[in-house]
Amino acid sequence: MATQTPPREVDHLIVGAGFAGLCTAIKLDEAGERDFVVIEKDTDVGGTWHVNTYPGAACDVPSQLYSFSFALNPDWSAAYSPQPEIQAYIRSVAERSGVLDRFRFSTTVLDARWDAATGCWQVRTDDGDYAARTLISGSGGLSEPRLPDIPGIGDFAGEVFHSARWDHDVDLDGKRVAVIGTGASAVQIVPELQRRLAATGGRLDVYQRTPNWVIPRNERRYTRVEKAAFRHVPGLQRALRAGVYAGLEARVPAFVRFPQLQAATEAAAKLNIRRGIADPALREKVTPDYRAGCKRILISNAYYPALAADNVELVTDPIAEITPTGIVAADGTSREVDVLVVATGFHVTDQPIAEHITGREGRTLADVWGDAGMRAYKGTTVHGFPNLFQLVGPNTALGHSSMIFIIESQVRYVVDAARTLRRRGQVAVEPKRATQDAWCARVQDRMDGTVWTTGGCASWYLDRFGNNTTLWPGQTFTFRRHLARFDEGAYDVVATTDPTESIEPHPTKETVTA
Ligand code: NAP
Repeated sequence: MATQTPPREVDHLIVGAGFAGLCTAIKLDEAGERDFVVIEKDTDVGGTWHVNTYPGAACDVPSQLYSFSFALNPDWSAAYSPQPEIQAYIRSVAERSGVLDRFRFSTTVLDARWDAATGCWQVRTDDGDYAARTLISGSGGLSEPRLPDIPGIGDFAGEVFHSARWDHDVDLDGKRVAVIGTGASAVQIVPELQRRLAATGGRLDVYQRTPNWVIPRNERRYTRVEKAAFRHVPGLQRALRAGVYAGLEARVPAFVRFPQLQAATEAAAKLNIRRGIADPALREKVTPDYRAGCKRILISNAYYPALAADNVELVTDPIAEITPTGIVAADGTSREVDVLVVATGFHVTDQPIAEHITGREGRTLADVWGDAGMRAYKGTTVHGFPNLFQLVGPNTALGHSSMIFIIESQVRYVVDAARTLRRRGQVAVEPKRATQDAWCARVQDRMDGTVWTTGGCASWYLDRFGNNTTLWPGQTFTFRRHLARFDEGAYDVVATTDPTESIEPHPTKETVTA
């Protein structure tokens, strides 16, 4: 019989070992906040980059910007990095950082509950319990696959898997494969599948509900000379990175203020269609009827030619049902399928981790957010949830640049908060309700007139109330400025039941001044 062991006490419990969790661990460690544990349900660091191994998986943010600012990588092979290279990069940063001894892999958080008596988060995992002063969630905005609710899908007798759970044991050679969805994942998967199936006598059906705007990808491989220059010429790679960053930030006004500027993107995408597809009917099917940017703008040189290939059919009739042997479209056409790939995205505005976090008032974060949608102060802290910090929280995601910039901004804020709490001897803080409300109102005000609201599409950026609680409506440097320091004045100190707990500095570490 299992014996009851007391929870392990830690200063900080970090959930998730992707870019966010790893960055937090490294920066807390540097700040002298070394008493932390990182819980990761998977077997390695990397998060989304560890899990998404589908054929063609790559980053659509330029490589030069898609790394930590404190760990540039001179060895990127190309302007856009493939998934295995990004995963290897994250692993090497983790190994060099010296924090891996505090990572617990293959461990899942079952629930986390604020305990007023001890001023700690009581966290249950499937491998022991923890009592943590702060709970830092880096569990990712795009980690829980969203499966489509299509009649009959449960009865399909062939192989079926989600793009983010690719089953590499399934032999695709010569098979009839169907991909449902035409988003960022599908545009990378489809060209790879098309080539492989063409070489082995297989067929591919692509089920499109809504076309996306797909612009060309500026691909090029870095030469040995360039890589040597990145490594040895002081400041060169950082200057290139700054240029890429500035170029992407220059696109923000077209998203938030002047959506009509997206006409240039639409022209580039239409040219991409004309180059890739000769058939006018197919061209028409893939041309969106909403403003570019309303949904995420995709980049690919290979997607349209793949759709035009002989062994591919683009199906735009809605799916009526899935039978044990295939898919029936709304026009009655039935297509036999051996393997079904579901590339239908993720739970974004209803993050599953929220169901497992119970705050000061005994309600889960999912419950609280269920009232009016996801709300957080500066995308990071939530009234009623003391010392909970959420990385990649509400209104922090980007459609135009690198999430690593946002993550680093939030981590600075969290580290400053940890230092401040220690210096003040405060057990716990949470954002004042009025301050959080004012922040959320300001963010939502800025959504008026953005392309996400006015662009004429339905997207996963919007929640069930029609609010965009996903994206940051501005430049990333503005976000960073807002989170430049932990603004204690915006927070209430939360008393614990035991009053001595709330005034004592935490005893196990030296005091670190900000
Ligand atoms: P997604 O963009 O949400 O696309 C899901 C696709 O599935 C859409 O085409 C959607 O159609 C379709 N779909 C959903 N439910 C359906 C249903 N019941 N029947 C038919 N079609 C259905 O998901 P994703 O492609 O996995 O990408 C998600 C996000 O992951 C991206 O936006 C991006 O942020 C990230 N990502 C990034 C990269 C990168 O390179 N950095 C690569 C892949 C993914 P509708 O449009 O009609 O809803």
